[in-house]
Amino acid sequence: MAGSVRISSACVCFFCLLVEPFGWEDNRRGMIVRVLPDQAAGRLLDYRVPEAFGSAVAVGSRVKVPVRTRLLTGTVIEVLEHSDVRGLRDLADLLDERPMIRPALLELARWMADYYCCPMETAVCSVLPVAVRDGKVSEKRRNTVRMARDIPAEEWEALERRAPRQTDALRVLLAASAAVLVTEAAAKAGVAEGVFRTLEKRGLVVIESTVVARDPYAEKFLSSANLALNAEQAVALQAVEEAMADPSPKPILLFGVTGSGKTEIYLRAIRKAIETGRTALVLVPEIALTPQTVERFKSRFADMQEKIAVLHSHLSDGERHDEWHKIHGGEARIVIGARSSIFAPLENLGIIIVDEEHENSYKQDEAPRYHARDMAVLRGHREKAAVLLGSATPSLESWHNSQSGKYRLVRLDNRVDDKRMPVVRVVDLRQAARKSPEGGILSRPLKEAIEGRMAKGEQTILFLNRRGFSTSMICEACGHVCMCPDCSVSLTFHRAAERIVCHICGHSSRAPKTCPKCGDPGIRHAGVGTQKVEEAVKRIFPKARITRMDADSMTRKDAYRETLGAFKEGKIDVLVGTQMIAKGLHFPNVTLVGIVNADLGLHLPDFRAGERTFQLLTQVAGRAGRGEMEGEVLVQTFTPFNPSIQFARHHDYEGFMDQEMEFRRQFGYPPYGRMVLITVRGTMLERTQFSAETLSRKLKAAAPTGVVVGDGVPAPLEKAKTYFRFHVSLRGPSSIQMAHLVRKTLDALPMPEDVFLAVDVDPLHLL
Ligand code: ADP
Ligand code: ZN
Repeated sequence: MAGSVRISSACVCFFCLLVEPFGWEDNRRGMIVRVLPDQAAGRLLDYRVPEAFGSAVAVGSRVKVPVRTRLLTGTVIEVLEHSDVRGLRDLADLLDERPMIRPALLELARWMADYYCCPMETAVCSVLPVAVRDGKVSEKRRNTVRMARDIPAEEWEALERRAPRQTDALRVLLAASAAVLVTEAAAKAGVAEGVFRTLEKRGLVVIESTVVARDPYAEKFLSSANLALNAEQAVALQAVEEAMADPSPKPILLFGVTGSGKTEIYLRAIRKAIETGRTALVLVPEIALTPQTVERFKSRFADMQEKIAVLHSHLSDGERHDEWHKIHGGEARIVIGARSSIFAPLENLGIIIVDEEHENSYKQDEAPRYHARDMAVLRGHREKAAVLLGSATPSLESWHNSQSGKYRLVRLDNRVDDKRMPVVRVVDLRQAARKSPEGGILSRPLKEAIEGRMAKGEQTILFLNRRGFSTSMICEACGHVCMCPDCSVSLTFHRAAERIVCHICGHSSRAPKTCPKCGDPGIRHAGVGTQKVEEAVKRIFPKARITRMDADSMTRKDAYRETLGAFKEGKIDVLVGTQMIAKGLHFPNVTLVGIVNADLGLHLPDFRAGERTFQLLTQVAGRAGRGEMEGEVLVQTFTPFNPSIQFARHHDYEGFMDQEMEFRRQFGYPPYGRMVLITVRGTMLERTQFSAETLSRKLKAAAPTGVVVGDGVPAPLEKAKTYFRFHVSLRGPSSIQMAHLVRKTLDALPMPEDVFLAVDVDPLHLL
């Protein structure tokens, strides 16, 4: 099972004994190390260190060790005085002169394995990026591949019939938001790398070697000077500096409205860390790790640009390898990165900053299912670094901690220069939609507002949290909805390719012209996606310059940067997009933000739905009026009186918190209680269900008082990627207590080979 770690005191495993049954040498002399191989089911094995390696082998060293007849790569977990294992084998090789994992990070991994209930080797692997783990990166592995052009439906159909492997390969590229490594794409598609070469010859994809471009942000940035802090900022910075001087500081929650100048505080704090000989780690959500963000940091530290490392998911293996070694070697003093950068091997940390701390993307959705913000708090505590969590809409968890005194609360209540918060108007779609068929997309007030902006040469952002053209294709005659054959969701229509696509698994097929079930030609597109919004705006404003920004339109690596550049230069009137445009962007000329449908997400079966909607509305609204002109936000909704919408409208974070906290308290939801969610997955319905029910029964039998174990029930997303999904949830006062219960139960419960488990401690997504 997935969550098992067997930390035996020493290996007496039969593999070792079998191979060298009569090794009676004296193991009590010389150096002995305990090694965790990357792929040996969590077994810890002891080895003797040959003298040739001298004292170079230490905790955290990456080594090669013989396991049975194979040589495996692993990590030294402990250096021992002696081992009780008879017939110890020798370490085969030492991979690097310096230990690759610092002891502090190894400890963090150990803690993570325990808390998040995952195997130790999974935790260890996550503190060491793949690009580094596997040793030297060869040049040819840095080839990336992307789509060369759109493929018309006929061509696609033909290709799929003739060469299904090629369409498999293309599907991976269609689903990716940027160029991907050829090796990765091939693995994902389950095809040979040669398939991409064939596609390249056909002119369908472009393969590029990224050998030279090792620093993705290699341009030089002009230096930017400190800004004179306003009074609120000065107080905030003071608090941060106090924490940095404190040997065991409390984390700080910086609660600052959008546009209140939080970044300036971050920049000053980083400078302080550097000046006092320490290092700084900055986490930003992947989606906000834009060239614009990087530029803000790099330009402030223009005097030390080569000492800044940037880590994000678009890096090629080679780039990641280089950036990581720059940090590990002590050359980089400032690290900016997404979630996994929390494990950046910086030493002597002065401050860890987590921007937009409420962001869900800080939670990893595969094992180890850690939350980078929580890891930041833990790492800061262990390494005696200040921790600064910033947000305009702090998570309930962090807000709770700031109220209970666990965190220190620092506020920025006003926008810089007393710029006013944008005026938010709510448009009732129930009436608008009734009046005109298009009213459901662009109501009359929104239409007029856009018109007004265009006349004045100001810019508009239209936000919709759903890509594609329409959510589903539905037959008016028989009510048939086109569903994914492998997932329990409807297929989304994508107009450009004339295809219907599953947003869960990527399955795609040609969009039907008639109902596949009853043959009626009245099949229509229901629901609204970004493509439909784009089309509607184009139809209504034929002269407007409109660009769409979502995962479908931003498949090229540079597309994002180019679009934002064009928008900044005023070459685009209306930018239509998904979350991609909601976060952290700063455009002074944007005076109107339209939220096309605020209800998406509100009605999900998830107790955090209200919190997410409030946060999203506040963040999107925060994009308006960041310049001299005042901003206006129009929120279209079918539920105008929903509290999330009303509180967001009045910029009343605390009002929302009060109400939401009360709701959570009543039901014992986080932050008042803790949760563990186990997903049981399998292709055989009955076996999967039975496994979930058995697991629930065992957990109930072993649960201490105070821990409530739910039944094995179908997950809200019942089927995904051909797997049936069941949930078993646990609720109780302590996550770690439940994690231990789960581990103990699972270790004693054999699962069928084709049933898979995922344990999520402190889950954020309940689907
Ligand atoms: P937040 O991250 O809180 O939304 P930002 O840090 O992006 O806000 O700041 C908003 C804008 O205000 C930025 O353009 C920034 O350069 C500017 N700014 C921040 N602090 C000051 C200051 N003390 N004086 C003048 N402008 C400032
Ligand atoms: Zn699917």
